[in-house]
Amino acid sequence: MNNMFFLDEEKTKKCQVCERDIPESDKWCKYCGWVQHAVPSDPDTQYWDLNFVTLNKARQLYAAGKPVQPDFDDFLKCMQVYAELEFYCRGKHYGLLNMPNDTWDFYEWNVDIGCQTYGSIEEFAEKANIEGVLLKDLWNEVYDVGTAS
Ligand SMILES: [Zn+2]
Repeated sequence: MNNMFFLDEEKTKKCQVCERDIPESDKWCKYCGWVQHAVPSDPDTQYWDLNFVTLNKARQLYAAGKPVQPDFDDFLKCMQVYAELEFYCRGKHYGLLNMPNDTWDFYEWNVDIGCQTYGSIEEFAEKANIEGVLLKDLWNEVYDVGTAS
């Protein structure tokens, strides 16, 4: 049996970033990676719904042919919304966790030693490092930013 007829009949909507047609029921856009906002949001300030840049920044990146990825400043702003984020750098997996006492733990995933603890997000931004190289200087080698899973 050929299901194409039914797929063609499925309702679609325009992705909020790339404006290509995606199934009405999908949140995640397979073309650009954007997760559709369920409710209207401020397109310049809000970091949420499993996205790591603002809506307008995602549109700019997409229009420029660049991946919809957060820069270091975006990442810091995301930490106002997400309690824990993870990412990869140079083949290793890292996480940043906002602890209940409002300190910030930066660690290599599933590695018990070498956790860096900072008293504020600003201190994390200034001092966090991977093997002595500041994270802010390494950020162009960071990929696959995500919510901790
Ligand atoms: Zn899209």
